[in-house]
Amino acid sequence: MSDTKPNLYDLNYDELEALVRRWGEPRYRADQIWTWLYQHLATEISQMTSLPKALRTKLEEQVVHYVPPIVAVQESIDGETRKDLLEMVDGERVEVVLMRYIDRRTACISTQVGCPIGCEFCATGQMGFRRDLTSGEILTQVLHFERELQAQGQRLSNVVFMGMGEPFLNYDSTLAAIRRLMHPQGFNMGQRRMTLSTAGIVPGIQRFSDEGIQVNLAVSLHAATDEVRNDLMPVNRRYNLDALFTALRVYIEKTNRQVTLEWVLIEEVNDTTEQAIALAARVATMLIHVNLIALNPTAGYPGRRSSPERVEAFIEVLERRHIPHTLRLRRGIDIRAGCGQLRARNDATA
Ligand code: SAH
Ligand code: SF4
Repeated sequence: MSDTKPNLYDLNYDELEALVRRWGEPRYRADQIWTWLYQHLATEISQMTSLPKALRTKLEEQVVHYVPPIVAVQESIDGETRKDLLEMVDGERVEVVLMRYIDRRTACISTQVGCPIGCEFCATGQMGFRRDLTSGEILTQVLHFERELQAQGQRLSNVVFMGMGEPFLNYDSTLAAIRRLMHPQGFNMGQRRMTLSTAGIVPGIQRFSDEGIQVNLAVSLHAATDEVRNDLMPVNRRYNLDALFTALRVYIEKTNRQVTLEWVLIEEVNDTTEQAIALAARVATMLIHVNLIALNPTAGYPGRRSSPERVEAFIEVLERRHIPHTLRLRRGIDIRAGCGQLRARNDATA
C-alpha cells in the first residue's frame, strides 16, 4: 500500500465527494460509493456494480478499500459472547466483542491498539500503548459485526466504545467514526444506540459536551476518593475527582443527558462502606446511574473480585441513599472477552 492512497473508510462524505469530483465524476457517484460502503457493506470495490467499470478501475488504482480480515474467532460456551481478532493494514491486531442479549446485539469496539492510561487491573492497560486507530479502523469494527449478523438475518442494535483504548485520547478519530456511523444516507446508526466510555479525560468530556450529539457517555470511576483512585487509575493524578465531577456537571447541564458511572468492584480495595458512602455523597442530586461490574481476572493484577456479601453491602449503601444503580452481569469470561480483558494477542488461544 502506498502511503498517499486514501483509505475509503477513512473519508467522510465531503472528502469522498471532493475525491470523485477531482476525477471529473458527477457528485452522485460519491452517493453511490457511500451506499456501497455503508449500506451494502461491500468488502471489494469489484462488488460496486452500479459504478462504471472505468471508475471501479480508477478506485482500485487510487484508493485503498481495506476490510480487516478475521484472524481468530472465539465463542463463549453459552453462545452469548463472541470475540474476533481483526488485523489492521499494518499487522496490528484488535479484539472486538459481540454480545447477544435476548432483545439486542451489542458490539464492543476499540479506539486504540493498547492504551496509554495504564489502569493496573485492565489487560489493555497492562499491554501498554501501541497506536491510535484511524476513524476508518474504528468504524470497520462495527461494520464487521453488522456484516456477520446480516448473514444470519439479524442486525446490530448497539455499539459501545468500551474495547481497547481511551476514546478521548483519540478524540478526533473517535468522533469522526461516530459521525460517519450516524450519517443518515449511510449506516444511519441511532445516536442513542452508541455509548462511549472514558477513564475521565476532562478536556475530552468538555469537548464532548459541545458536540450536540446524543451519544451516551459512561465514565470509569471505580473510586470516590482521590487516594484510592490515584492508585487504581493513574489518570486521576492528572484529572482528579473534583475536576472530573465539575466537567460532568457541566456535561449534564449542557446536554441534559444521564451519565453512567462504572465501578469495578475489587475486594477490600474499592468495595468498602466508606467508598460507597463517598460515592453516594459525590453523586447525590446528579443525573447519573451507577453500573457495578465484577472484576474480571487479568494476568497482571492480583486483586480479587468482591464476594457476594460485600457486593450486597455496597449496594445496600447506595440503595439507602437512593442512588440509581445496576449490577452488570459478567459475560464472555471463558474466552477473555469480558470488560478489561482485551489485548492485542498474536495467537488464537484464550
Ligand atoms: N478506556 C475507557 C474505555 C474502555 S472501557 C475506559 O476505561 O472507560 C473498559 C471498561 O472495562 C472500563 O469501565 C474499565 O474500567 C473496565 N475494566 C477494565 N479492566 C477490568 C477488569 N479487569 N474487570 C472488569 N472491568 C474492567
Ligand atoms: Fe485504558 Fe480503560 Fe483499560 Fe484504563 S480501563 S487501561 S483507560 S482501556
